[in-house]
Amino acid sequence: MTAHEAAAPAAEHGAAPTEAAFRAVHGAAPAGIWAAPGRVNLIGEHTDYNDGFVLPLALTHTTIAAAAPRTDGILRLHSGNVDGGIVELRTDDLRPAPRDTAARSASTWGGDGRRAEGWAAYPAGVVRAMREAGLPVGGADLHFDSTVPTGAGLSSSAALEVVTALALNDLYALGLAPQRLARLAQRAENAFVGVPCGIMDQTAAACATEGHALFLDTRDLHSRQVPFDVAAQGLRLLVVDTRVKHELGDGAYAERRAGCERGARVLGVPALRDVPYAQLTDALAMLADAPDIRALVRHVVTENRRVEEVVAHLDAGDIRAIGPLLTAGHASLRDDFAVSCAELDLAVDAALAAGAVGARMTGGGFGGSAIVLVDDVQADAVDAAVTAAFAAAGHTAPRIFTAVPGPGARRLA
Ligand code: ADP
Ligand code: MG
Repeated sequence: MTAHEAAAPAAEHGAAPTEAAFRAVHGAAPAGIWAAPGRVNLIGEHTDYNDGFVLPLALTHTTIAAAAPRTDGILRLHSGNVDGGIVELRTDDLRPAPRDTAARSASTWGGDGRRAEGWAAYPAGVVRAMREAGLPVGGADLHFDSTVPTGAGLSSSAALEVVTALALNDLYALGLAPQRLARLAQRAENAFVGVPCGIMDQTAAACATEGHALFLDTRDLHSRQVPFDVAAQGLRLLVVDTRVKHELGDGAYAERRAGCERGARVLGVPALRDVPYAQLTDALAMLADAPDIRALVRHVVTENRRVEEVVAHLDAGDIRAIGPLLTAGHASLRDDFAVSCAELDLAVDAALAAGAVGARMTGGGFGGSAIVLVDDVQADAVDAAVTAAFAAAGHTAPRIFTAVPGPGARRLA
C-alpha cells in the first residue's frame, strides 16, 4: 500500500472543477451545481428499523453534482470517481437491479441491452423513484465528483442519491422539501439498488445543518437540530476508517433485523421502540428462553435510551459528557448485537487507552468506520496510537480524519 492510499481524505472541493469536468464530459455548460454530504452517526445504531432514534451529523466531505436538463428523455451519467465513460439510460425504461446482484454488480441497468455500471443504479434509481411518484422528471446530463470515501460506512451512496434528487428538484422545478427528497432517495436505494437501508442516511444528507447533529425519530420522521459545535469545546471528533468490510455484513444485517422483529412480536409491541427503558427488565424476563433475541432487544432498548441521554447532554451544552455513552454504545454493539469486528474493536480500545473521551463503531458494523471523541490536545496522540495498534496487529493502515459537522444538501451555483 502506498502512502497516498492511506492518506486521510480531504473534505474540501469547490464547484469550479466539477463545472469544468461537466463541460469536458458533456460538451456544454451545466445549469447548476449542487452538493450533498456524507455522514457519521454519533449514536443510535441499528435502531432505525426498530422505529427508534438516531443522531447523525453531516460531514464536510461532499458529493458535488453538475447537471443540465435534456429534452429527449435520456439520462447521461458520469462520475469522476469511477473509471469508465458515460452511462446512458432512457428515463422511460429504467429497471431495478436484480435482487441477487444488488449494489455491487448491478450490471444490467437500463433497457435495450446496454450495460450500466453498478454505481449508476443510485442516481438512475432516484429518477425512477421520482417518475414512479408521478413527478414530471425528464432527461438530464449529470457529472459527479466526491470527497466522501466510498464503502467506508460514511454513506457516499446517500450523498450520491440526495445530490441527484436535489439537482432534479431544481432542474424540473419540483419544489420538494428536503425530507421528501430523502424519502425518494431511500426508495431509490431500497427498490432499485436493492439495499434495504433505513431513512437515516438520506435524511442526514438532505436535512443536516452546520454545527449540529440531527436528532431523528425514525417512526414519525420528526427531526430536530441539536448543537454540536465540538471545536468550540476544545474537543474533536475523529473518524477512523478501518478500510475493511467483512463479507458477512449483508446476511448478518437481515438476521439482526428479523431477530428484532421476532422480539417485538413476542413482546406484543409494534416495534422494539415501544419497549420503554423502565420496562427492560420485565421484557428481558419474557425472553428468558431466547438468549439471542434477548441480547438484540437489550441493545435496541438501551441504545434508544443512550440517544436520548446524548441529546440531553448536547442540549445542555456539555459535549464531553457524551463520551461514556459512546463507549457504552460500542460495548452493546460488540457484545449484545454482535456486529463489531477485530479492526473496529481495536480502533476503539486503542483510542480509549490513549486518552480518548469516548469511542464507538459507527454504521452497520463488520468494518467501515469508528468515531472517537477526544480532547483537541490529545488528538494527535490518539491518531498515532490507533495507527500503531493497526500496524502491530498487521491490519491495513486506517485512514483517520477530523469530522467537522457540516451543512446538508444545498445548491452551490
Ligand atoms: P457507503 O454508502 O457506506 O459509502 P455503499 O456500499 O452504500 O457504501 O455505497 C458505495 C457505492 O455507492 C459505491 O460502490 C458506488 O457504487 C456508489 N457511489 C458512491 N459515491 C459515488 C460517486 N461519487 N461516483 C460513483 N459512484 C458512487
Ligand atoms: Mg451506503
